[in-house]
Amino acid sequence: MSRVAYVNGTYQPHGEAVVHVEDRGFQFADGVYEVWSVFDGRLADFDGHMTRLHRSLNELRIDIPMSVAALTRVLRETIRRNRVKNGIVYLQVTRGTARRDHPFPAPGTPPSVIVTAKSISPARGEAQAKKGVAVLTQPDIRWGRCDIKTVGLLPNILAKQAAREAGAYEAWFVDDMGLVTEGSSTNAWIVDEHGKLRTRDTQANILKGCTRTTLMTLIEEQGLELDERPFSVEDVKRAREAFFTAAGAFVTPAISIDGTKIGDGKPGPITLKLRRLYLERARREAI
Ligand code: PLP
Repeated sequence: MSRVAYVNGTYQPHGEAVVHVEDRGFQFADGVYEVWSVFDGRLADFDGHMTRLHRSLNELRIDIPMSVAALTRVLRETIRRNRVKNGIVYLQVTRGTARRDHPFPAPGTPPSVIVTAKSISPARGEAQAKKGVAVLTQPDIRWGRCDIKTVGLLPNILAKQAAREAGAYEAWFVDDMGLVTEGSSTNAWIVDEHGKLRTRDTQANILKGCTRTTLMTLIEEQGLELDERPFSVEDVKRAREAFFTAAGAFVTPAISIDGTKIGDGKPGPITLKLRRLYLERARREAI
């Protein structure tokens, strides 16, 4: 029996059902999902899942894609078309499709909605329940592996959006100790009050930026002093200069943090020099 998936308003053969390459679910994990059990073609714990869905959407400020009645019709129709008597129905709602950029897309961008359903043999579950199953402990690293350049970027896009809504360009994450870790899509740097360059070490839970690595070579070549050591928000406020690095952003001066001017509130000379040197080298060595 061929399976069918609901994708943004139409029912499609499961094997051909696709979302756009720039769907934010695919690009950023910027979406939510629910799963209902299906018993004899009917949805179990219906209200609980629907309520949690709305809560998740509200928390992420993703528009409610359709009324409960309309969504229920889609869930039931997907179950029916897949001839699922017993199994599950899966719903995913993402912030929709837009040119890839961390901040939220323009208001009115329609969320993407996909629904799939699959049969699960009750007999198999019963057999398993009779014997019981084993459990293995694992460290809870949800998500403590920011050293991996994963597409699980939901916290990053929420931070970037918060920055944009506050009139800032980038967000800098701060850890439990009040120390800056990195930017939402960049590495963070200061020229501290003593004139020393500082950026956090990569033993910490941050992405080891390639721009950061190249810049460190340039800094050494220039005979500038670099301290790979975390700095606090207070350190940033006292710093002479601040900037952030990433592919695309290169070396971008930060002139204020949380509304407080950094240095004299203008891009600093070391930052601008490093930007120039970085751009020269990157251009020259690009292959
Ligand atoms: N930190 C985070 C969280 C990033 O997403 C990025 C780039 O996307 C960076 C740092 C900078 O990395 P790179 O210089 O390799 O672009």
